[in-house]
Amino acid sequence: MQEDRFNQDFFQFLQTSPTPFHAVSFMAAKLRDAGFQQLFETDAWHLAPGNSYFIIRDNGALAAFTLASTNVQDQGFRIMGSHTDSPALQIKPLAGKTSHSFFQLGVEVYGGPLLTTWFDRELSIAGRVVCTTTEGALLTLLIDFKRPVATIPSLAIHFDREANKGHAIDKQKELVPILSQITEDDSLNLSSILAEQIKKEHSDKQVEAIISFDLFCYDCQPPSYLGIGNEFITASRLDNLLSCFVGFSAMIETLKDTKADTNRLLICNNHEEIGSLTAAGAKGSFLHSMLGRIMPDPVTRDRTLRGSFFISMDNAHGIHPNFSDKSDPEHTPLLNHGPVIKSNANQSYATTSISGAIYKIIAAEAGVATQDFVMRSDMACGSTIGPHTSALLGIPTVDIGAPTLAMHSIREMTGSHDPFLLCRTINRFLTRERLPQTEG
Ligand SMILES: [Zn+2]
Repeated sequence: MQEDRFNQDFFQFLQTSPTPFHAVSFMAAKLRDAGFQQLFETDAWHLAPGNSYFIIRDNGALAAFTLASTNVQDQGFRIMGSHTDSPALQIKPLAGKTSHSFFQLGVEVYGGPLLTTWFDRELSIAGRVVCTTTEGALLTLLIDFKRPVATIPSLAIHFDREANKGHAIDKQKELVPILSQITEDDSLNLSSILAEQIKKEHSDKQVEAIISFDLFCYDCQPPSYLGIGNEFITASRLDNLLSCFVGFSAMIETLKDTKADTNRLLICNNHEEIGSLTAAGAKGSFLHSMLGRIMPDPVTRDRTLRGSFFISMDNAHGIHPNFSDKSDPEHTPLLNHGPVIKSNANQSYATTSISGAIYKIIAAEAGVATQDFVMRSDMACGSTIGPHTSALLGIPTVDIGAPTLAMHSIREMTGSHDPFLLCRTINRFLTRERLPQTEG
């Protein structure tokens, strides 16, 4: 596949995935179209060698796997992991309030966004709504307003002359999006707004009442190329929908490769940005329980997992030209120069010398350069789903990702070659006849 076509598909994925629920729904549709069969955790599974499957948990996490046609246990699994969630503003259960003719929404901060970037943006609303039907059943529906419906206006500089000298944001007082203007006799409320939107998007459903929801504000500006030579990509939620896109695209692409007869698995967890300790998060049981059902015998499973390899994909920090002192001078990843291998002496990243070496061999075979990242010694680094998954399952793991600027801003930036470079490496990982092994 050509890079520009790949990026256009990536833009479409970003634009139609304002929340983890939408990302999972999009990935599921693509996997289904490609021949993956959906399994449900509440059903009995009858897996057959050579077949491909996917599973969704709690609307926000997805796993997909393809089984080799023979010797599933003998050759281990090639596993890729990423996360579907991004920092955001989540709407409170009783969100609607009025002030000076404005109708506003109370929001909580989800994860660790750069809050200053959320002001003066054209925000939309999306997420899942749980309703009752006219027959009394519970129904979960995804909604997405898709157009600018809310904003958080900055305070004019005339009221705060010190605004450019650093301003601590009061999340309760200052982060309250405006949704509408109302008149005295207006009975506008959030429930009626949501009911109207459900009617538009799900006219075939007989909804009786809205019971609850998980709704988020998001920036509805579409993804775009940027730079005189289109060298960059700017978009919301690059962390970590970029890796989800690479993961499910590679799963689909390798299915078309008739010579690729390997065990391949993609896990896209939710809730990484809030610590992963949920049913759909990497500290939950999703991956563990799925592997237990693929390989019910514990000894066989342990043997297979020891011979498996896990690539934990999450965006990495590229060096920022205006803040180069924030990077270790010898570890300065550049955009468009290949995926970044992340290491940390205290194992906040799961990379070891062995897993890093295996990844470098695979990348070299794919003709893709790699870059190394460690945090400055006087600063704490972030983490990913890699260390926990590696510890829980005992699988050799490498933490890698596309170099990014402005991580956790409402608009993040990566190189326009970076998603495709990562995908080429992952394709090689999934299709290589045997995984590289070390002796000793
Ligand atoms: Zn991330």
